[in-house]
Amino acid sequence: MKRYALIGRRLGHSYSQQWFGELFARLGLADHRYDLHEMDSLAALHPWVEHEGIAGFNVTVPYKQEVIAYLDTLDETAMAVGAVNCVTVEHGRLVGHNTDAPAFRRSLEATGWKPRRALILGTGGAAHAVALALNELSIHYIYISRTTETKTDEVSLLEVASYEQIPLLCSQKGTLIVNATPVGMFPDEESSPIPVIDFPLSYVYDLTYNPSPTRLMRDALAAGAEVKDGMEMLHLQAEMSWQLFQQATDTVF
Ligand code: NAP
Repeated sequence: MKRYALIGRRLGHSYSQQWFGELFARLGLADHRYDLHEMDSLAALHPWVEHEGIAGFNVTVPYKQEVIAYLDTLDETAMAVGAVNCVTVEHGRLVGHNTDAPAFRRSLEATGWKPRRALILGTGGAAHAVALALNELSIHYIYISRTTETKTDEVSLLEVASYEQIPLLCSQKGTLIVNATPVGMFPDEESSPIPVIDFPLSYVYDLTYNPSPTRLMRDALAAGAEVKDGMEMLHLQAEMSWQLFQQATDTVF
């Protein structure tokens, strides 16, 4: 039996088990299994991997950054992002990867949008993955955080701005807003990281996939923006994880 899993604190919302279950059924891999494994801390990570014979696992909230301390090595993307959402077990060593960044990049490229710059809402692991992808695409970005002090001058020089500055920052046509916060996600569906949109908007990419559309996406559409949800990215990061799991298996034999 080849065992894979998703670890996180609360996983009731997760689509991963269904996604991998359907993949294994499609490929006729009856000896493959993908479980959801809730953990209140990562202290038992190593014993769990060893005793359960885990071949690879995905990592979600809140452990994408904390898990790094438990791994033997990181690939280049995980190192650049500073967050891990996929771990392969290679000759007993735990190797951290980040498939959120390439998945976001590929799904953004698929839109055909031509953003001139981006505002990334949030400063967590997903926000850093988005930043790496934007960097690779040469799209200048600014983080938007709740904890930065508002500065009203030299806006273009700021790398971290406040939510109050969003209307001013959006006055430049072609601005892309990426929601990399959990705000608006089930069950908090009527919340939006930008509760009032009374300014022009070009593009909004909401990493949320449940619900879709989010309130942010609906408000942005009403303000004339093109919008996209996080479902394609979710599928792409899972596909990329599966490729890494297979490559890791291939190196063992
Ligand atoms: P996270 O670390 O829990 O939060 C990200 C950031 O959001 C925080 O650092 C914080 O930034 C901001 N934030 C948190 N709570 C907030 C609140 N109540 N109000 C406003 N801002 C808040 O989460 P993450 O792992 O980066 O993931 C963020 C979101 O992306 C989640 O909803 C996740 O499901 C989604 N995601 C989707 C995919 C996909 O494939 N579609 C992949 C990865 C993640 P500040 O403190 O700086 O404000």
